Amino acid sequence: MTESLESCRGYRIGGAERIFAPLDAPEHPPRDRTFQLHHVRLDIVIDDAARTVSGTAAHHLAPINDGLKDVVFDQQGLNIRRVTDGDGKALDFEVHGEELTVHLARTKKAGERFELRIRYECKPQKGLFFVAPDKAYPARPRIVWTQGEEMDNRSWFPSYDFPNQKFTSEVVVTVDEKFRVVSNGHLAKEKHDPKKRTRTYDWVQDKPHPNYLIALVAGEWDSKEWSADGVPVQAYVPKGMGKYIDLCFSRVPHMVKYFGRVTGQKYPWDKYAQACVPEFTFGGMENTSITILFEYCLTDEKAYPDYSSDPLLSHELAHQWFGDYVTTKSWGHLWLNESFADYFECLWWEDYFGKDDFLLHLQEIREGYYEEAEKHYRRPIVTHRYVDSEDMLDAHTYNKGCGVLHMMRTVLGDDLWWKSIRHYVKKHALQNVETNDLKVAIEEATGRNLDWFFDEWLYRAGHPEFEVSWSWDDKARQVEVKLKQTHEVKDPVPLFKMPVVFELASDERVWRENVKVEKAEHTFRFGTPRRPKTVLFDPDGALLKKLTFKKEKEELVWQVARAKGIWGRIEACEGLGKFLADEGALRALEKALTKDKHWGVRRAAAAALGEIGSPEARDTLLRSLKGQDSRVRRGIYRALGKFRKDDVAFKALTKAYMEDGIYAPMATAGFALAETRHDDAFTTIVKGMDRPSQAEVISRAAARGLAYLRDERGVKVLMERTAYGLPELRRYGAAIALGQLGYYHEERREDVLDHLVGLTKDPNYRTKLGAIDGLAELGYKKATAELEKLRETAVLGNVRKNARTAVDQIREKHAEGAKRLEQQAELDKLKDENKVLKARLASVESKVDALAKRRK
Ligand SMILES: [Zn+2]
Repeated sequence: MTESLESCRGYRIGGAERIFAPLDAPEHPPRDRTFQLHHVRLDIVIDDAARTVSGTAAHHLAPINDGLKDVVFDQQGLNIRRVTDGDGKALDFEVHGEELTVHLARTKKAGERFELRIRYECKPQKGLFFVAPDKAYPARPRIVWTQGEEMDNRSWFPSYDFPNQKFTSEVVVTVDEKFRVVSNGHLAKEKHDPKKRTRTYDWVQDKPHPNYLIALVAGEWDSKEWSADGVPVQAYVPKGMGKYIDLCFSRVPHMVKYFGRVTGQKYPWDKYAQACVPEFTFGGMENTSITILFEYCLTDEKAYPDYSSDPLLSHELAHQWFGDYVTTKSWGHLWLNESFADYFECLWWEDYFGKDDFLLHLQEIREGYYEEAEKHYRRPIVTHRYVDSEDMLDAHTYNKGCGVLHMMRTVLGDDLWWKSIRHYVKKHALQNVETNDLKVAIEEATGRNLDWFFDEWLYRAGHPEFEVSWSWDDKARQVEVKLKQTHEVKDPVPLFKMPVVFELASDERVWRENVKVEKAEHTFRFGTPRRPKTVLFDPDGALLKKLTFKKEKEELVWQVARAKGIWGRIEACEGLGKFLADEGALRALEKALTKDKHWGVRRAAAAALGEIGSPEARDTLLRSLKGQDSRVRRGIYRALGKFRKDDVAFKALTKAYMEDGIYAPMATAGFALAETRHDDAFTTIVKGMDRPSQAEVISRAAARGLAYLRDERGVKVLMERTAYGLPELRRYGAAIALGQLGYYHEERREDVLDHLVGLTKDPNYRTKLGAIDGLAELGYKKATAELEKLRETAVLGNVRKNARTAVDQIREKHAEGAKRLEQQAELDKLKDENKVLKARLASVESKVDALAKRRK
């Protein structure tokens, strides 16, 4: 599953700290099983006008042990009419909460196969969703779609709804004759009934899969089909949107072949369909052979190359192996699905775009984890202690696990890594797994025991924070490197043991030294005839870590121009950004910004120039704009936002915001306008904020900008952008920003509160989420009662989860006290002053330096 709205993952602006699970949170180990389900056959009618599902769910099952008397299924809100056995004989049943218990006519023996048929009807509140036009959204298509993960399929059919067993399935579904239905597996039959004006589709999934992956979509579609390794690859989009198909999906056949090649398992299902649906509650969901996606991946050329649907599409496709073919046994081991999907997304990226782009993509994912670790919590990736299964969908399960898999590959080396993966996939084909199965598979395939690695990276928490420095011992002809692990070692965060690499470089040669870190402090000595120009730690950026490595300017200037890998050059840019008012640093960064062959280094140079913040740095940024890749332009705009109240930067950003032409850079410029805090920022942002863009990136960035400006006029502007009838993401962005802005205007707090509380009752899911997040940002205690109600009663897990998080955030915000407002203003002022002082100091220092040199 994917949650993010952008190709670069969505980020929360939330301030307060939140915890993962309170101490009294319950344990959720894999569930005990009493029977093996072999096959489920649904025969249902979907009435999209009445918004109902009715029909029969037939289960073929057998007891695991002798003496099975009762069979317990999962259900939620279903009206169970009748349960019969295979001969049509009625059986007693009871419904308590989410359990449907069927009393068998006689006890059954282990392995004795039998059938139960359940007749039912329902008006699903989740699991299966109806989209239809209304007065405010007349163009909205009529579409039915499902979302099973984690355990919502029980809301539209009764079944065994936990991931720890797999079975084959058949979905026979009757719908309006206009609709085309796509479901799991292959289409065995299709029948038209002209009298009833219905069509019946019979989809068969003949390979076992877990209940949460059963899915369907029904609607009128534009579609296209490709072929890869003999597998039909299909795209279904709402009728009228066919013109976007090629831009979005054209690289998927390449991905299908790539994953088939590297895993040693060709694409395992009958077809690969991808269907885009309106108002989808996630980014994408990897149901076996039918991935369902939100519609925001369908976009025009103005989104590219800054936006790409490839990460989303490769993530969901990778799940067809990791998640679908090999499936986690419980939500506590969910990283076996999600980290793999994230990392295989990166691996495809590496295969298609090369090593450097791979590294930057991986780093973007790791940043998501660092943010969660720094602002909120550090937890073991594998845990069964949580409140709601939705809690597991966090940056530890996705992002950190992705970084961990990359380290695992680094530790094993490419050959053994791929050998392990191929063995793991083959050994556990079509089965459930838990974390230890991966460890054992690696050992079987390679002979390598990774107990230590799994212990520190999966069962314990955190990441190392390193402080590194080096010096040259002229007498001994040795480089002396000092390394410290400076993070707090406190259960569950360990002192880390890892093999690490140093890269040393001179004008003539580059070489590497491999060492092992295991203590809090190390001193390493590397012999070499001459002093190297630079020493890099972890030159390939392989480790999950935070690094402080103080270096002289001369080393950084050499490094930014000469380091072989982009990682070293990017780190050098970051280092040079700390040399304010230094001509040499400025020139080195300008050269990197205009001449480096990789956009990632150019972007880092732009960021560093923004940090320097001098008029010369600003002019360098402006001079370098022309002809840059849009990803670098974004970096330049972001950097220009650092120039407060600066007319020149403001003018350039206004032009960028209105005229850049590509959505994401225009959005970046919109927020940067606010960061300048220029007097005209407010009106300029408002002027451009209603332009449509991919996933409303412009209007959302503009809304964030208005909140950043803290201008009270923004309250009205933002309230208007939450109106029913506007695009859902515009409403979502405005609702969050409204809360942020309301926090700074005590006199408007009641208005904002009422407005946001009203929006929590909105029929639109994303608007509702935006309103909840907005209430968290507003931090007004009065909202707590409403949020508590939502966290108890909301139907969708994500709404409950966000409501719970919001309550925690409000509590934290109050603990911080009302002083924050003044503190923030004070801090801003200090930052400005500090920068001026630093610049002066640096300029004095460089003059003194120059004088000293002249004297020699
Ligand atoms: Zn996923």
